[in-house]
Amino acid sequence: MKRLLAPALAIAALTSLHAQSPGERAVDWNRLRPEILERYRDLVKLDTTAGSETLAVDYLKKVLEGEGIPTRTFALDPKRANLVARLKGNGSKRPLLILAHTDVVGVQREKWPVDPFGAVMKDGYIWGRGSKDDKPVLAANLVTMLMLKRLNVPLDRDVIFLAESAEEADTTGVGINFMVREHFPEIDAEFAMTEGGGATIEGGSVKQVNIGTAEKLPARVRLVATGTAGHGSAPRLDNSLIHLAAAVEKVGRWETPMRLNDTTRAYFEKLAAAGPPEQAARYKALLNPASAAGAQQYLRQHSPAEYSMLRTSVVPTMLKAGVGPNVIPSEAEATIDVRALPDEDLDRFFAEMAKVIADPAVKVVPLPRIRPASPASRIDTEMYRAMEQAAKSVYPGAMVLPSMSTGASDQAQLRAKGIQSYGVGPASTESDATDYPAHGDVERLAESSLYPFVQYVWNVVTAVAAKKN
Ligand SMILES: [Zn+2]
Repeated sequence: MKRLLAPALAIAALTSLHAQSPGERAVDWNRLRPEILERYRDLVKLDTTAGSETLAVDYLKKVLEGEGIPTRTFALDPKRANLVARLKGNGSKRPLLILAHTDVVGVQREKWPVDPFGAVMKDGYIWGRGSKDDKPVLAANLVTMLMLKRLNVPLDRDVIFLAESAEEADTTGVGINFMVREHFPEIDAEFAMTEGGGATIEGGSVKQVNIGTAEKLPARVRLVATGTAGHGSAPRLDNSLIHLAAAVEKVGRWETPMRLNDTTRAYFEKLAAAGPPEQAARYKALLNPASAAGAQQYLRQHSPAEYSMLRTSVVPTMLKAGVGPNVIPSEAEATIDVRALPDEDLDRFFAEMAKVIADPAVKVVPLPRIRPASPASRIDTEMYRAMEQAAKSVYPGAMVLPSMSTGASDQAQLRAKGIQSYGVGPASTESDATDYPAHGDVERLAESSLYPFVQYVWNVVTAVAAKKN
């Protein structure tokens, strides 16, 4: 087993530094690689499936404190602790928060060709649960803290490191909800950076870097149809199943209005201005009201996620009805996964949905929301510009664009508190992202994606937080 760089060696690695502007403060990345890999693999090897995140906190505490960075832990549930470490700046700017979640989703071991917590290295990949979600970000943030400390980088703002539990499912509120509610001053910042972005490799190089600036809001509803119960042998017009089925059909095919925000407009405009001509033409068509409908239909068929970026989406996901084959049920219900645009007026939207259903036997019942509505983060900030710059320098030639996630993340809680929050992620090919995705049966990350990603995070942090000379 490889050993970590001994501190003396790590410091020797730094002597090859040369003076640069803070934004490009150089690290000898080749010499740092073994340590990056080791830290990352250490983290992947920890089975931090929901309920055991403190394993990661213990590891991080040891590593950070071992290098003189004090830490604090905050635990509503002792097995699911959160850890905060802060490097102090001179206070001339408000803090930067770099965070990552420590929990991973569960595994079905029989689906894995290797130990899901072995961080096995095979075919150029590191395999393991969490290898994409979210341990690359956790490792990059950790290494960034260690290097800031070792290099004694003077800071204009505090850099706060947060390792949070329970991002994947915080049913008991032990993760970001707990931190925001009970310990917000510990993590309050002008800017935050965490998972929620990514980059795409095509033909061996990174072609596109997405900076996550916004996300949709899960705002689910139940459709509840009621009728008269009766015998299956005697048809009834008010059969709740018939009414529900019609309602599900209508909302499932409902073409909600397309509406762009700053992020999605910039995203589609960039795609329309660059890239292969055929693809560019499709995005141009999307931005032209005269041809938008056809372009939307193309995306609906071929790119569901981009289609979803255009609108509040409405997706039936569950049905519940019936007690026996010969019983007409008096009630039938469906769950509809609504993913709202950040600025959606939901009361109005649900009223609109009821009009689409147009059936007094079917009620639209909103379900409790698990995250707050969160405004999109701005794309004209020092932070966004630094990320754009860092992406261009680490991934030369790549198109860099803001993106809105159709999923939900802990950035929602931060944005809702006024923090401008941005998403990053390591690069992968389209096929690897499809075949070995976050939460997939098997998860893996190309080793070659790990190092530039850490460099990217480092470049952003130093550009935004290091003291300007
Ligand atoms: Zn995640």
